[in-house]
Amino acid sequence: MKKHPLFFKILIFLLLLLVIGMIRSSHKAKQEKAAASYRAQMQVSTDTTATKEATVSEETLSSEASQNGESDFSAFYAPSNDPSDYQWANDYERSEDGTACYVLDGGQNTTIFGKPVPTCEELVTLVDTNSAITDEFKPFVKNYIQTWLELWPESDLSVFRQNLSTLCIDRVSAKTIQEKAGSSGTVACYINSENRIYVSEDLELSDPASDDCIVLTHELTHAVRNGAFTKDAVRYLFRFSYNTMPGQIPEEALITLFAHTLQGRMDPAGFYTVPCNFFRIILDCLGDSYSGTDYVNHSVNLLADRMDAYMGEDHTSWEILWQLSCLYESHNGETIDNPPADYDLLLSYITRMYCKKYLSDGMPSSEAEEVFHALCNELTTNFDRLITPYDEITPEALRPYFEACCKKMGVSD
Ligand SMILES: [Zn+2]
Repeated sequence: MKKHPLFFKILIFLLLLLVIGMIRSSHKAKQEKAAASYRAQMQVSTDTTATKEATVSEETLSSEASQNGESDFSAFYAPSNDPSDYQWANDYERSEDGTACYVLDGGQNTTIFGKPVPTCEELVTLVDTNSAITDEFKPFVKNYIQTWLELWPESDLSVFRQNLSTLCIDRVSAKTIQEKAGSSGTVACYINSENRIYVSEDLELSDPASDDCIVLTHELTHAVRNGAFTKDAVRYLFRFSYNTMPGQIPEEALITLFAHTLQGRMDPAGFYTVPCNFFRIILDCLGDSYSGTDYVNHSVNLLADRMDAYMGEDHTSWEILWQLSCLYESHNGETIDNPPADYDLLLSYITRMYCKKYLSDGMPSSEAEEVFHALCNELTTNFDRLITPYDEITPEALRPYFEACCKKMGVSD
């Protein structure tokens, strides 16, 4: 988990050109292009030695950061632009030579693992028998499992079961964490290739609602979602999204917010501030149509589809998730190739999303104004804790979009 500016690999951003091209091309061309790209990428990946392929692929699975400058594996991503794309992206995909298989959606988990979805008891037993989880962490991890399944009982924790048998939680120095994550602002990380969570040697777990508990819960959720499993000489790699924008930042925001829910934290903590501010609104508006179950059982494609369904708009969500990622990354000093010219679309979208829930037909303007203030407060929460503010997100910038919503809803003077 990162608190401050982080440095993802520049190479990932080169893929933005591909991403944009895919979004804007026609469906047919898009699918063919993505498939060709996928095969090309898989070729690159599988041309390397088996050991290197597995190592590099798994390192990129770590949602915190890659650990070295090379990245032979650089996956394409397929926008969920229509039902066939959605199906295509959510089915698990296999390289042509059959050695690696990228699993976005959990729908095939029981087939891949050859076991039914794990029960709570099964997972708790794994914690008890895993000597790499020391006694000080066992109660925390068991409580995590129980609370998760109480909140979201339909979750398929097959990938977590796989990780849990050997998962290790290590207390290390801040320097070691930053080296492992490859980022100076990282306060904890989960490295999937090691199946190991690195937390601070000073981590204090006595208060469930503390930042420290949020951090460990966040990292455990990475271990719930990211994994690798070999069966019949096929390496299955599980993930919420390909390691490209816009999947990663939305994922970080989601699991930070889920960590808040799991730990009973009411106020917003200072991690991934702007992505979390946007996603608090997104999750609030999606309500029951998006939960921890959906995050675990499905990919970023389902999230995008649910956003589109709520807004009654076709395919705008990918652009929004991408812009949010660009906003966050650029604010944190990342160089982004071909960034959006401005964030008008993002601000317009989040305003319309919020107004759709909180404005009503013919609402008096005084009441509408309260809605506007609440929206501004949500989006700028914790800005006073940031080293540099987000100049893009101000009441003045949001105002025109809000006025447009008021006009549409017949808000009266
Ligand atoms: Zn994280």
